[in-house]
Amino acid sequence: MVNAIIFGAPGSGKGTYASRLQSKVGVEVIATGDVFREIMREETPLAQRVRSYVEKGLLVPDDVVIEVLKQRMAKIPKGKGFILDGYPRTVEQAKALEKIAKIDVIIRLIVPEWIIVERLSTRRICKNCGEVYNIRFLKPKVEGICDKCGGQLYQRSDDTPEVIKKRIEVYEQQTQPILEYYKAKGIPFIEFKTESLEMPPEVAVEEIIKGLKKLKLTQ
Ligand code: ADP
Ligand code: ZN
Repeated sequence: MVNAIIFGAPGSGKGTYASRLQSKVGVEVIATGDVFREIMREETPLAQRVRSYVEKGLLVPDDVVIEVLKQRMAKIPKGKGFILDGYPRTVEQAKALEKIAKIDVIIRLIVPEWIIVERLSTRRICKNCGEVYNIRFLKPKVEGICDKCGGQLYQRSDDTPEVIKKRIEVYEQQTQPILEYYKAKGIPFIEFKTESLEMPPEVAVEEIIKGLKKLKLTQ
């Protein structure tokens, strides 16, 4: 059983790797962004409160995030581990997590800026179903059209080189103190560095599993 946190900049492949690790390692992935998107579909005071931050691109306040995380974590079956994606985003959140669960390992994805810019600026998303494509590496069968549902593909307005660089900078600033916090606690790190644009996800996933085995956190 393993309790892990995965850190990686936008476009680092974090979501893709986490979902593959979910089936391969038998853990539950908790992505706080997804949890909030789910909450926002409801018509509750909490949904309204969350919406007022997320829609402005602001972090949801720590007390709300921590409460939501607690409730989500309580649903993990006994004996099953987890990978957190998108949490913690502040040292305060990291401290609160300590009271909820023991963290065994930090998985850190290191991706050079040029690769992120290249990946995200060629990314296209289906308007209808949200499927993600890439006009260089993962082309749809018909240009501009979703393979799965025939919906139109669009480019996110923040997937432009200038905005991407800004997003990476904000990410680094937010994450640095949290990584330092875990380093100081002596929690082991598995660091995976992406060196090429063409690297298939399986390579990263296998390396991460190797790291988990070395730490005797998985079989
Ligand atoms: P992004 O990578 O674009 O930030 P996420 O899916 O991780 O996307 O999160 C979407 C939004 O949900 C964030 O912009 C933020 O408003 C909120 N959110 C997610 N996780 C947290 C967290 N740990 N603390 C505060 N806000 C969060
Ligand atoms: Zn689609």
